[in-house]
Amino acid sequence: MLITTTPGREYPLWRYALLFSELEGKLNELREKHPSYVRIEKSGLSHEGRDLFTVIIANDVTDESIRSYEAFRERSLRQPDEIITDIRSGKCYAIPLYFNCNLHGHEISGTDGLLSFIEEIVGTEMSRLLDDAFIIISICANPDGRARGIDLFNAHGIDLNRDMAAQTQPETRAIIEHALARFFPVTMVDMHGYMGAGNIMIDACTPPHNPNIEYDLLEPHMHRNAQKMADVIQERLRLKTDIPALLWKDGWEDYSPIYTSTYSQSFGCIAHTLETNFPNEEGAAVTHCGALGSLLYAIEHKNELLINQCEYFRRGITGSTKAKPGPAFYVIPYDQETQRDLSVTKNMLEILLRNRIRVYRSIPSGDYVIPTAQPLRGLIHNLLWKGEDVTEQAENMYDVSFYSHPVMRGITAIELNQLADGTGLSEVSEIAAIAGVFTSDDSLSHYSFSSGTNDSIKLVHFLLRRNITVYRASHSTEHAEAGDFFFKKTADEAWLEDFLSGQDIRMRAAAALPSEAHVVRSPKVLIVSDSGGVYEVLKDWGFNADFLPFSELNGGYEIKPEEYDVFLLGGTRLHLWSDPFDDSQIGVGYGNTWALRQRGRDEVLRAAGLFDNLIMYGYSGMIVNETLGFIPGASSLLKGSEHKNEHEDWHLNTSSGSFNMTFDPTDPIGYGFNPKETFYLVGPHGLVASAEAKAPVSFAAPSFINGWCKNEDAYCGNPAVLYTQQNGRTNVLMGIDPCFRKYTDASFHIMANTLLLTAYA
Ligand SMILES: [Zn+2]
Repeated sequence: MLITTTPGREYPLWRYALLFSELEGKLNELREKHPSYVRIEKSGLSHEGRDLFTVIIANDVTDESIRSYEAFRERSLRQPDEIITDIRSGKCYAIPLYFNCNLHGHEISGTDGLLSFIEEIVGTEMSRLLDDAFIIISICANPDGRARGIDLFNAHGIDLNRDMAAQTQPETRAIIEHALARFFPVTMVDMHGYMGAGNIMIDACTPPHNPNIEYDLLEPHMHRNAQKMADVIQERLRLKTDIPALLWKDGWEDYSPIYTSTYSQSFGCIAHTLETNFPNEEGAAVTHCGALGSLLYAIEHKNELLINQCEYFRRGITGSTKAKPGPAFYVIPYDQETQRDLSVTKNMLEILLRNRIRVYRSIPSGDYVIPTAQPLRGLIHNLLWKGEDVTEQAENMYDVSFYSHPVMRGITAIELNQLADGTGLSEVSEIAAIAGVFTSDDSLSHYSFSSGTNDSIKLVHFLLRRNITVYRASHSTEHAEAGDFFFKKTADEAWLEDFLSGQDIRMRAAAALPSEAHVVRSPKVLIVSDSGGVYEVLKDWGFNADFLPFSELNGGYEIKPEEYDVFLLGGTRLHLWSDPFDDSQIGVGYGNTWALRQRGRDEVLRAAGLFDNLIMYGYSGMIVNETLGFIPGASSLLKGSEHKNEHEDWHLNTSSGSFNMTFDPTDPIGYGFNPKETFYLVGPHGLVASAEAKAPVSFAAPSFINGWCKNEDAYCGNPAVLYTQQNGRTNVLMGIDPCFRKYTDASFHIMANTLLLTAYA
């Protein structure tokens, strides 16, 4: 549950702004007034069941016309040569533009600004522009955030503008399915805020640029389109705009495809993030003018832009790329011997299909095969490669370095330039269901199943909810690995077979319980974190967990330690502990916050010692531990060096990428892991060992592989997790965030193991 002190009350916005509850009425009014130009589609539901609206503004919005436009876009993707020839011989196509609004909960301006933009276009002679443009708008991409005033996040604590590659959320999946992978927009602008008294900001970005995309086709137009937006804002509003690419050397990069705009670039799209100034009428007017500037630019350069995007797709198909070379095939085995977690593997393959990447099954092996000679070649690499070392390319990075499903999620993806002789390929439209392994034996009285898949932790909770006692082997024996789960057979097992269908559970019959075992209980958890990944991971597994947003803590919410078993406090960004932004600059009482303020910090420090168990990670975890001394002597080796400018720097400005780790698989936190693992880490801290604490997880020496890392020495061989258990209390300090933004399935189980450890009977 997301904790709120004002249940049922809609978050009050500035007087000019529409409440989310008023949006549908406003959209219907626009459609009724301008039925030939305005189409409103419902594109799914948010976590709390609010509608995600896609608005289409075009010359003809009948079903037939939309279908015909989709067919044009499909041909642009699959037969780009034909479209290039059509255009050169004088055929006229409308150019697709996409605008995304209010993706961050408290960044409301885009919704109101784009509504007035629509009124200007369809209600005046400007409607003639629609002869040349087809406009797609996600008018409020984060309805729960707007309706509830949930900081940056959606209702599960996830930052949607970091979720585009991961696609863990209904809101981001709607953007893919109903906009990006449907209309393949040629330009897009994602509307954000707030710069306050500073200048408005519109990307093009600073280096390093993403090496997997045909950047040479995008860059010139990215600069000029941003300039045109800035010009219209200047003409109409007399406000200045900064374009990072023209001002700074680094620190505002478009390297990582996690944002809506950078992800769109992988579709050959001229894509921008616009950060407006204030959440008032002026802020909305900025987004209106920005959209208009982009529309005017797109129409003026329509044929060149359409041809450029077709050329982008053509290079992918023919392999005549100017981007970084990559393998000709990614091969994804689909069996339990090879894959750590088949459900995670299946989910990744489904993401590829959702994004219109062609996926094949190999005959006879059954492996999935993704040839990279496809229109979306750059997107394939961005999702499946293993990254590169960009440390020397930037002094600063705004956020994470590369993205990689295989590295982050522990999926085996084999890179090949040639398939084995005689391999047949058959294209698939869905991924095969997982056949759980369930070896029954009537003569044996128990079952055991391996730890390590997400489904295994779901099964633990499924059993606990049925009041079945679950045991966990605490040592490896002839019949069990340390960490394996056990339970006694029951008379009726239809429910168990039902559960196992489609899950990656590796279960077998067992003669008895292991001689040494923990009794498993699931603790109730309170989470305060800047990366909501851990909340969703715990919910998916079946833990009873509450997420407490910063806004509630800052606003006076009193933590109730007696209601929980574990307090989980974490944040990779120093923001969680020290927000460089002051909301009094942005709007009095607006409640705009990225982090804990003094009141929130005081409350965390007051309550932390009152919980029975404490899990701390990231920068904020280090501060709490050092302030309150839970694990004596344990601290971060990075303190003081990581952040050059501790209280002003808003960059993530810390290492991210792949790291080699070492485990003690006999320790309860190491159960189910191999002695050597590779993880994707963000903002890791090498820890100073404590004489009183165990260190089940450490950085290997050397540790850093790919990504961005300026302080490798701080990791090399040092502990990554420390914990103490005394008088029934468990204190854990993690130098890593194992569930970072829900990206990193490969390390999720550190959190499962740690939570279960706090509750072993
Ligand atoms: Zn934002």
